[in-house]
Amino acid sequence: MSSVEKTLTPKLIKKLWAAFILLVLLMGASYIFIASYFANKHNQETTQRLNADVANHVIAEKFQNDSPFLEDGSVNKELFGDLMHDMMAVNQGIEVYLLNETGEILYSVVLDHDAGAPTKSVSLEPIKTFIATKGNEFVLGDDPRDIKEQKIFSAAPYSVDGRNGFMYIVLAGKKFQEVSDNLLGQYFAKLGTGATLLAMLFTAIIGLLAIWFLTKNLRLITSTVRKFQEGDLNARIENPDKSDIAIFANSFNEMADSIVGNMDKMQSVDLLRRELIANVSHDLRTPLAILKGYIETLQMKRDTLTETEKDEYLQITHDNVDRLSKLINQLFEYSKLEAEQVVPVKEPFSITELSYDLIAKFKVLAEKKEISLELENPKENCMVFADVSLVERALQNLIENALKYTEPKGKVTLSLKKEGKNIEINITDTGTGIPVNEQPFIFDRYKQVDKSAKKQGSGLGLAIVKKIMELHDTTITVLSKPKEGSSFIFNLPSYQQA
Ligand code: ADP
Repeated sequence: MSSVEKTLTPKLIKKLWAAFILLVLLMGASYIFIASYFANKHNQETTQRLNADVANHVIAEKFQNDSPFLEDGSVNKELFGDLMHDMMAVNQGIEVYLLNETGEILYSVVLDHDAGAPTKSVSLEPIKTFIATKGNEFVLGDDPRDIKEQKIFSAAPYSVDGRNGFMYIVLAGKKFQEVSDNLLGQYFAKLGTGATLLAMLFTAIIGLLAIWFLTKNLRLITSTVRKFQEGDLNARIENPDKSDIAIFANSFNEMADSIVGNMDKMQSVDLLRRELIANVSHDLRTPLAILKGYIETLQMKRDTLTETEKDEYLQITHDNVDRLSKLINQLFEYSKLEAEQVVPVKEPFSITELSYDLIAKFKVLAEKKEISLELENPKENCMVFADVSLVERALQNLIENALKYTEPKGKVTLSLKKEGKNIEINITDTGTGIPVNEQPFIFDRYKQVDKSAKKQGSGLGLAIVKKIMELHDTTITVLSKPKEGSSFIFNLPSYQQA
């Protein structure tokens, strides 16, 4: 019981017990009620069957020699006086009535005369049924001394001196009823108490067992939850579907899994953040060191350096400052996206126009690298519903990458295509391509396929693109083959003008 009490509150146990006791009392009461009803009926039926012929016997016995009526037509009281004596000696519980053919009471032999005056007549219907079935059917008749009551009886027809009628004998008369009720009351009081006590005993045993079994699973769950709470992250409820509270057990297991999953995710986010900081600080340090070196050289050898050398050194410092500022900008942008501080402002705009602008912007760089940069656009103007500056940022990063990883004489194509309710945007290059096993990771922060290639990237470009896609509820796919080139494809919802 002690472990049961630990898992269940005393309040709950009290309630369970109260419910059990109430149930037992109710059961006891209904048992007594039903049993007494049937016992009474059984008793009455037995008495009626046993005494079915009493009326016949009385007629045969009493009316054989003497007529129940005197010559003046009145009832032969002497004859009935005899009957009274017999009854007193043999059965005080019965009441004898002499009825005429309409059911009117002509005379009654009742021992207890104080018990109220008899009614004038009784219903003949049950009497006729009784006679017709020869007493084999259980039927109740009127109680002449209490019109509200129905009693068992015996009845038989007589036909004497041209007068017809019925001998009607109430078998369970007032006296019988008193004795019977008294006995039955005592008997059932004992039976009821006995049955209730016994039921209570069994209920107590079954109740204890039931509480123990019901709480078995609850205890198991509680102990598992406690283990988990104390830090055992592997604690799970075994065979949750077999548990009585499968939903709870399964929910706990799922909850534990998702807590552990979230913890893992947080840990990996943390790890990536640290990795990013380490890598970024490394990347910041390199151009800074270069800058420092060239500036120092310029300062120290100001007089010995030729003008061309000075120009070259200044160009290098300039490039590195560019690189630094770009890196810092990207970091700033990425951290804002990562912290979900950027809320896209979606509006309809022409992706065709934006693409033309971008192609024009990158044309110089492409020409410098001898790469042909083209736009493939359907004849009509393509409108999309998106954040224009974020989409521009994503396209910029993708075109920059395409140009960066494509050798001279290569080709970079930006194409737009209508795909149902979307516009498909595709940036394809004939560059170095990305190894298949690397493809899933290039969108992760700080992933660069070939670090030794010294492409001078931050590794943040595609991570920023991915975040922008997420903000537009879309995804970007990469199709790439090493040495053949890569395609980056994504969809934006097209804007239909009403
Ligand atoms: P980075 O600044 O290094 O370019 P990105 O996030 O833009 O960083 O790209 C991640 C990596 O994915 C790159 O280092 C490169 O290895 C690969 N990559 C991206 N775009 C292309 C492309 N068009 N062709 C080949 N490789 C690419």
